[in-house]
Amino acid sequence: MTRTALTRGGTEYVPEFLMAIDPEKCIGCGRCYKVCGRGVMTLHGLTEDGALVRPGTAEYDDVEDEIIKSVMTMVAPDLCIGCGACARVCPSDCQSHAAVD
Ligand code: SF4
Ligand code: SF4
Repeated sequence: MTRTALTRGGTEYVPEFLMAIDPEKCIGCGRCYKVCGRGVMTLHGLTEDGALVRPGTAEYDDVEDEIIKSVMTMVAPDLCIGCGACARVCPSDCQSHAAVD
């Protein structure tokens, strides 16, 4: 059975949760990060080898020369409320959203 939520007025709706972000398409613009009020995503560096490393860590410092671009990454997917705001501001069509059971 598809999970539903309620608006303030008590109307039922189906949340569309963020399920994935395609690192190939993401341009690291940060628009989705700015509109998300739930802390679901943060920017990571993507290395030539395809590894995602978080800025501010020792690992990031170690591979900084190998980073080819910044990409948005899901760090707390369970906090998503399925509001869809991130999808509306993404210019690269790199996010996938879906209803869940
Ligand atoms: S759907 Fe809403 S809560 Fe979920 S990641 Fe996007 S902006 Fe954040
Ligand atoms: S809005 Fe789209 S392109 Fe921009 S950082 Fe988010 S996922 Fe990447």
